[in-house]
Amino acid sequence: MNRPLELGSPGDMRERLNGLVLGGRKVAAFGLVQEYLDEGEAIETVGEELDLVDSAGGRVATVRITEVRELDFGAADWGLVEAEGEGFATVAAWAQAHRDFWATAGYEVTDGSALVWTRFEVVDPRPLVPPRPTAGDLALPEGYQHVYSGKVRDLFRTPDGDLLVVAADRISAYDWVLPTPIPDKGRILNRMSLWWFEQLADLVPNHVITADTPGLVGDRGVVCRSLDMLPVECVVRGYLTGSGLSDYRRTGSVCGVTLPDGLTDGSRLPAPIFTPATKAAIGDHDENVDFDHVVATVGPELAQRLRETSIAVYDRAERIARERGIILADTKFEFGQVAGDPAIVLADEVLTPDSSRYWPADSWEPGRAQPSFDKQYVRDWLTSPESGWDRTSDTAPPPLPDEVVARTRAKYVEAYERITGSPFE
Ligand code: ATP
Ligand code: MG
Repeated sequence: MNRPLELGSPGDMRERLNGLVLGGRKVAAFGLVQEYLDEGEAIETVGEELDLVDSAGGRVATVRITEVRELDFGAADWGLVEAEGEGFATVAAWAQAHRDFWATAGYEVTDGSALVWTRFEVVDPRPLVPPRPTAGDLALPEGYQHVYSGKVRDLFRTPDGDLLVVAADRISAYDWVLPTPIPDKGRILNRMSLWWFEQLADLVPNHVITADTPGLVGDRGVVCRSLDMLPVECVVRGYLTGSGLSDYRRTGSVCGVTLPDGLTDGSRLPAPIFTPATKAAIGDHDENVDFDHVVATVGPELAQRLRETSIAVYDRAERIARERGIILADTKFEFGQVAGDPAIVLADEVLTPDSSRYWPADSWEPGRAQPSFDKQYVRDWLTSPESGWDRTSDTAPPPLPDEVVARTRAKYVEAYERITGSPFE
């Protein structure tokens, strides 16, 4: 990961940064020397590679600095302004927009103010992520503040101190956020989580306050209690595949749980097992850990409750899914706590195709990879020669073809409809 360069600027740059870089128009930027000093940041140097990030910290592209100039605000000329690529008609218009923009950050910019002008070239045009919606895009009322964006969800603090969690149409695979969104995926996943929270409500308290969301969020979001999240990915497996299968083949066990001999890809386990993982930083793989690791992280009593609750929730969900002809092979839960209260609260997304492996029961056949209700088309295409992508490189994946997008959307819709028994639209 390179040093990030956040490009907030006039002209709705935050929202349009992606398009500007893609379209090749954004090739330079102005910075305020005082701001660099206040933030203790070094001024860019020629040859340095930087990650352009949007206001939510999402990487939009990697660039290389080709030229750096220091100048006074009053001396910015048309050539430089035009090179910035934001479509200003005159230097005066540029100056006014920048004065107003910097004023919002508390800087009064006058003719003598020192600026840095950096020209860059896009080194890797591919690591583009779909733009993350801002409070403005979602027309959130006054008082909502963006606090965090994960690979898929954007979190906003509500005026009451709760959290508005908005599921975007972003899709991730092999730990990359892909450049191409899947239409309606956010709505499908959010509605599926809400449906599952209801089915599980008598077993475990959950974080949902209301599905009635502000602005333009609609059924993409949910207002929930802001919890102290426990740093454990609570994975339960009823069937063996994926990283569990790899561990089993190497060691005969998964996360310290010894399994019988002779199991294969897709085998049903004698009983569901708790196979926790640590939550990795963006871009890193989650790592399977054994129960002792969880005990060391949260203490024996809480570790015990996480395991029992996770397995109880899996049992219930597995039965419900099976009644609908679907196997819940494995799934991941995240729990949190309200400060000062020892109860564990089920949070995040639950039992969506992003957090779970669902297989059609009628085609289940151990000994091979099972068809699944999720990103299979995406993964298959990404690893096919057609994509031209090398999974082992650290280059971001390319945009998805329309057909892969359409098929993937259809799979998410099918999963929703089969599990909830209701039409999506
Ligand atoms: P990462 O956090 O590593 O980016 P991710 O890519 O899975 O993980 P998303 O699922 O996109 O992230 O974002 C959801 C984030 O919100 C997660 O970090 C999750 O732990 C957090 N979260 C979910 N529910 C709550 C809650 N009720 N209170 C606080 N945080 C929550
Ligand atoms: Mg997540």
